Amino acid sequence: MLVDAHCHLTGSYLAPDQVEATLARARAEGVTGFIAVGTDLEDSRIVLDLATRTPGVQASLGVHPHEASSWSPQVAEALGRMLADPAVRFVGETGLDWHYDLSPRDEQELAFRAQIRLAKALRKPLMIHTRSAPEATLRLLEEEGADAVKGIIHCFSEDRAFAARALDLGFYLSFSGITTFKKAEAIRDVAAWAPEDRILVETDAPFLAPVPYRGKPNEPGYVRFTAEVVAELRGIPSVKLAELTTRNLEALCGWAPSS
Ligand SMILES: [Zn+2]
Repeated sequence: MLVDAHCHLTGSYLAPDQVEATLARARAEGVTGFIAVGTDLEDSRIVLDLATRTPGVQASLGVHPHEASSWSPQVAEALGRMLADPAVRFVGETGLDWHYDLSPRDEQELAFRAQIRLAKALRKPLMIHTRSAPEATLRLLEEEGADAVKGIIHCFSEDRAFAARALDLGFYLSFSGITTFKKAEAIRDVAAWAPEDRILVETDAPFLAPVPYRGKPNEPGYVRFTAEVVAELRGIPSVKLAELTTRNLEALCGWAPSS
């Protein structure tokens, strides 16, 4: 049993008629749990619908930093209503992306702070996206008291110093296909070193396919390649890594797939 702690299964990421077959291929690889992630209000609606009718799929709903310009009191209210659904296990993805800067930074910060507050009000953990903004991400999490809800640093791609501070806040580190790239030394170092009760694996499908599918469209079944590399880096059997990441997800969000 293996869980993909972060994947995109809706909208422009995956055609609706491909979802069942994609999940079936993943299940055939032993991947039985999927956290499907919404990136704006409309996508979050579709993710929630998918999660409520698909065994093994639960939802993370939010407004991605790329879409932060769409944030408004109306979006906050509509999102807040959806987040109350028991199939929603995380708030996000939210955070800061100063690499692409697709939304102005002040709007990213506003949407991020608001989603941290929603997570605290609903007592659900956060799903954090952070790129080229490590200091600001940690500062906002600290200022908003995100340690009260914890969450996932998704697609972990920072260094040990960042990891240490995120761990201090109670966050979990989720390793993606990047971890299988030989040149990702800092990330591989953290994957080997992080406490075993704080690590997760994910695909971020359809992005960032792991070796041996690097450069191709990613899908949740490929999370096993990342899990194998993380297990190897830590010197433990893959089956043990699968067990502990499944247990970690459950400890964080209260859900594990039933088989
Ligand atoms: Zn994502």
